[in-house]
Amino acid sequence: MSAAIAAVLAVALVVLAGLLVPPLLRRRGRRLAFSQTLPEPMRAAIARNVPVSRSLPRDLARRLEGLVISFLAEKQFVGCNGLVITDEIRATIAAQACLLLLGRLGLYDELQSILVYPGAFWVEDEVHDDDGLVTHRRRELSGEAWDSHRIILSWEDIEETARRPTDGYNVVLHEFAHYLDAEGRGLAPLPPQATDRVRAIDAWHKDLVAEYEALCDTVERGESTFLDPYAAEDEVEFFAVVSEEFIECPAELRTAHPRLYALMREFYGIDPAAWADGR
Ligand SMILES: [Zn+2]
Repeated sequence: MSAAIAAVLAVALVVLAGLLVPPLLRRRGRRLAFSQTLPEPMRAAIARNVPVSRSLPRDLARRLEGLVISFLAEKQFVGCNGLVITDEIRATIAAQACLLLLGRLGLYDELQSILVYPGAFWVEDEVHDDDGLVTHRRRELSGEAWDSHRIILSWEDIEETARRPTDGYNVVLHEFAHYLDAEGRGLAPLPPQATDRVRAIDAWHKDLVAEYEALCDTVERGESTFLDPYAAEDEVEFFAVVSEEFIECPAELRTAHPRLYALMREFYGIDPAAWADGR
């Protein structure tokens, strides 16, 4: 073998190792997380701020704890505008975000950091319309799934959610649902324990769009809706808003929109109304 070929092979091996080793280490770390337990103060913060965690069946409660441990090990929390990140903030956000993963694979794999502001924050961006016209916007937000690496949240809004955990408003669920939606609209890969056959992604999506259009019609007629009318903004907001209600008031969502509830159950691989029934 010539020196040049050996050098190329060596470089190729290094690149391959760079690609393969991090996912392997990550997988090993995640497996280990399921044999560990959270420190007691973090458990107490989750029980207090994420009350739905107390009604989970035992196997899902254990899974949530393992997911939270992995999430905290992998993601970086950054306090903004002087906010000091505490264990309560980390545990609360991680637990709410991981509720959406109880029946899914993955752990927001591309996400690296969660930026937390003390309260609502301002975001400036540009909107390009179809004619190429660019408008500058300045918006006050309580959360934003900024890109595949960063999610921004307001701690004040998260604390408010903890005080009213069943009103269907939850900024963490909303932004992490956006993240999952952007990851690939459609059905999740089946979790290992699931045995149901999964329908084709486009059939699922078509049914979701039909539910969205039904909501838009209701809003246009000026009738009151169970879903927050903000869900009629567009399909992306529809999915995020319904995800909040799926976790926060599942029994009510199931009664008001049984087909929509079934679609969310397919996407998330969990049945939160059944946990509520068992309370
Ligand atoms: Zn949104």
